[in-house]
Amino acid sequence: MDLFSSLKSDDPEDLSEVIRELTSLKELLNQYAYNYYVLDAPTVPDAEYDRLYKRLELLEYEYPQLLDPNSPTQRVGGAAVEAFESHRHAVPMLSLKTETNSESSGAENFDTRIRKELGLGPNAPLVEYIAELKFDGLAMNIRYEDGKLVRATTRGDGEFGEDVTHNIRTISQIPLELKINDAKLLTHPVIPRVLEVRGEVYMRLDDFQKLNERQRDKILKGAKGERTFVNPRNAAAGAVRQLDPRIAAERPLSFFAYGVGEVRWINDEQTNPQDLSSIFKTHKNLLDSLKALGFPVDSHAELVSGAQGLISYHQRMGQLRKNLPFDIDGVVYKLNDTTLQQKLGFITREPKWAVAHKYPAQEELTTVLGIEVQVGRTGKLTPVAKLSPVFVGGVTVTNATLHNQDEAQRKDVRVGDTVIVRRAGDVIPEVVSVLLDKRVGTPEPFKMPSNCPVCASLAVREEGEADFRCTGGLYCAAQRKQAFLHFAQRKALNIEDLGEKLVDQLVDTGTLKTLPDMYRLGLTSLITLERMAEKSASNVLASIERSKTTTLARFLFGLGIRHVGETTAKDLAKHYGSIDAVMSAEVEDLLSVKDVGPVVANSVRTFFDQPHNVEVVNQLRACGVSWSESAPNGSGSSNLELPLAGKTYVITGTLSRYSREDLKEQLESLGAKVSSSVSAKTTALIAGEAAGSKLTKAQELGILILGEDELEALLNFN
Ligand code: NAD
Repeated sequence: MDLFSSLKSDDPEDLSEVIRELTSLKELLNQYAYNYYVLDAPTVPDAEYDRLYKRLELLEYEYPQLLDPNSPTQRVGGAAVEAFESHRHAVPMLSLKTETNSESSGAENFDTRIRKELGLGPNAPLVEYIAELKFDGLAMNIRYEDGKLVRATTRGDGEFGEDVTHNIRTISQIPLELKINDAKLLTHPVIPRVLEVRGEVYMRLDDFQKLNERQRDKILKGAKGERTFVNPRNAAAGAVRQLDPRIAAERPLSFFAYGVGEVRWINDEQTNPQDLSSIFKTHKNLLDSLKALGFPVDSHAELVSGAQGLISYHQRMGQLRKNLPFDIDGVVYKLNDTTLQQKLGFITREPKWAVAHKYPAQEELTTVLGIEVQVGRTGKLTPVAKLSPVFVGGVTVTNATLHNQDEAQRKDVRVGDTVIVRRAGDVIPEVVSVLLDKRVGTPEPFKMPSNCPVCASLAVREEGEADFRCTGGLYCAAQRKQAFLHFAQRKALNIEDLGEKLVDQLVDTGTLKTLPDMYRLGLTSLITLERMAEKSASNVLASIERSKTTTLARFLFGLGIRHVGETTAKDLAKHYGSIDAVMSAEVEDLLSVKDVGPVVANSVRTFFDQPHNVEVVNQLRACGVSWSESAPNGSGSSNLELPLAGKTYVITGTLSRYSREDLKEQLESLGAKVSSSVSAKTTALIAGEAAGSKLTKAQELGILILGEDELEALLNFN
């Protein structure tokens, strides 16, 4: 359907076609508005509603004879629900005309209209506007009499609203009594006789997330009648329109004031409700007064001049949007001078002196072409919906995350479904919900595969975890980069010169596929890489060579077995003494290791149950990676069997190839003791750069002094 195709036709055949379309549009829009305003459970994204609405507006414009006074384009919002007491607004609560065009034309259209209405010629000065954020919540009218909150009503159909005072009282940001906080800001520094404050009740994004987490928990625990909310607006509307104020109080709401309804400031004299100019000369005065009376007023409201001022505001707030702690769907431009506002007045459902200028929608409709499972660097399996390309949140989106199996099943996303996809700020696009009534046939529900789609290793989900993970570890192509970096880190094999950029290049060029490939690297394969001179290539090879002498604990840690951190690796090494013993240990046996529980034990067993992981270990050994193996704990053997048993070393000065901590660990793994002071019992002093008093003492005592080369020979020899 081309929205902007010219529709005008006098052919009666065509007219019946138009009537059919009008009727169907009105039916659909009424149903969507009911779900949105009355049930607080929208079934389509706003963008879809807005498209249909615009189409209806266009048809009604082209065929004025078919305009129905009950059309959704002639009314505001939704009807009041019977469960709430209904109240007639003293001053109708209107909607806003919407501009959805690009930042310049939307603002220019508005400025041109205003100048025309005010009869300003091209040489007349720029018009002063106030620009505000358009908060995505629901409008509220809060009435104060003699300074006390007496009633709060929703916008309803604009004429009648629902009395939700009991819930609004629970919002701590809304004063129950007006206070004069700063008399300088007030145009009338006394408490007004009647003041209706208008503004938006909304939910902050962090509060929304917490609320949905709590809701999910309740649902998991089997609570009846609970649901999660699709967006903060919907959650806020649901909370405000709760019959039980205790539930509303549990749902954290916030408020921004941006206008007024009925105002009688001094004595009992009636202020013309449509003309505030006798009290507030400008909209800025009004905002300042509301602030002084204790209401939260958003600090982004700004006075700007002419179309350029509006354009710049729209642009700046558009940039800021993704960092705001709450959702906005656009900005609002208002004429600042209230006398001029009064002069322009309003039409049907909107004032002529204000306009909403929207940003690109953050939610759109599209179809699911397939569901793929992606494997992350850490082995996490994420189901991703492949989408028919859709423009949302300012970019074309083709993929949206389904997070994990539970989320995918909870949302029941299936191939072929029509879904609402959301992309807000820089956040990864996600599927919000499925339009079940648009599902064709009975596509298969999504199920996580039992094997990794990249390497076919078993995919497991541990108890209490939401994610499935590939157990392929070292072998899985998706996890390669992570595996190499983990293996090379200081606390593992300590290959200093193998940084992230280098690993990226080596994996991307296919040079490194499995860990042993690292020990097969030659100078030629390195110097052909970007920004790699011969000198640095030799350094890399030297640090790889040095890493061959290690400890069992470091080696075990380096393998990247899930849940096996540094300490657990040390405990396992100490307990079993050899890699073969660890690899063949059964779960029950692993449970006897200090601090090892079922999660770790199962993880170790599953890792070594994958033949390709065992193969990697064997190949690493074949490449010369070695450590001294000792007899297992409690078998009666002692450190005495180790090559440096009985020897004591002292380390001093700065070493270039080792850190003190690493060296100490290596020496100890070979059976040596490392002491902090030199004595006659010291076997040798390992002295680096700038060694001081320990070196002098060792020289005096005639103790052997080792430099880094000798040290390396000692470690390699043993
Ligand atoms: P609107 O939300 O576009 O604009 C008017 C409202 O803006 C006011 O009532 C007020 O609540 C709010 N607002 C926020 N900040 C403001 C500020 N600084 N100054 C003044 N007002 C401010 O118009 P509407 O008539 O309330 O509703 C139309 C909107 O509701 C559209 O975005 C439409 O997509 C959506 N809707 C969606 C569905 C659906 O099924 N998804 C159904 C009906 C309506």
